[in-house]
Amino acid sequence: MLPVIAVILLTQVGINVISNKLVSQNPITHTIQIKDPTTGKVIKEISPLVVWPAKGVITLEFGESSLYQPFHTGIDIAGKLDDPVNPAMNGTVIYAGETFWGFGKHIIIDHGNNIQTIYAHLDKIYVYKGQKVTTDSVIGGQGETGWATGVHLHFQVNVYGIPVNPRVFLGNGNPL
Ligand SMILES: [Zn+2]
Repeated sequence: MLPVIAVILLTQVGINVISNKLVSQNPITHTIQIKDPTTGKVIKEISPLVVWPAKGVITLEFGESSLYQPFHTGIDIAGKLDDPVNPAMNGTVIYAGETFWGFGKHIIIDHGNNIQTIYAHLDKIYVYKGQKVTTDSVIGGQGETGWATGVHLHFQVNVYGIPVNPRVFLGNGNPL
């Protein structure tokens, strides 16, 4: 559930604006700034190790519209069936399971500082709830479970439970 303030903002100004209110990258130090959503003040600056969670081609960016979402809440990386998926940052698995709609087989990892990442539409899941994982762990394999039109990884970053632009963390490049 999105907080009421987020819903109001989403309907009036769009998801990219919300994302900027929650998290941004310091243009000078390149640290990631976590903000208080109500005041916009920076409450924490962090510099975690961040890596691309999969190899492949980016097929949909954050905020673009698709068949399933008027604004895309993550970034889609399309590789081949069962291509390895790794955490974008070190963390702890808080969900590993399947819904038959939406994300399909998916994993949620908590990174502290109110940051969580989601890895969706997986074909395989190799981790369990409570497991600590690092950026070199293989946590799953790419698939097309749930609402997907082809094999890809839907990678989403939530701050305070609200999807933000993963490129704040990943930068402007492309997966290898
Ligand atoms: Zn997606």
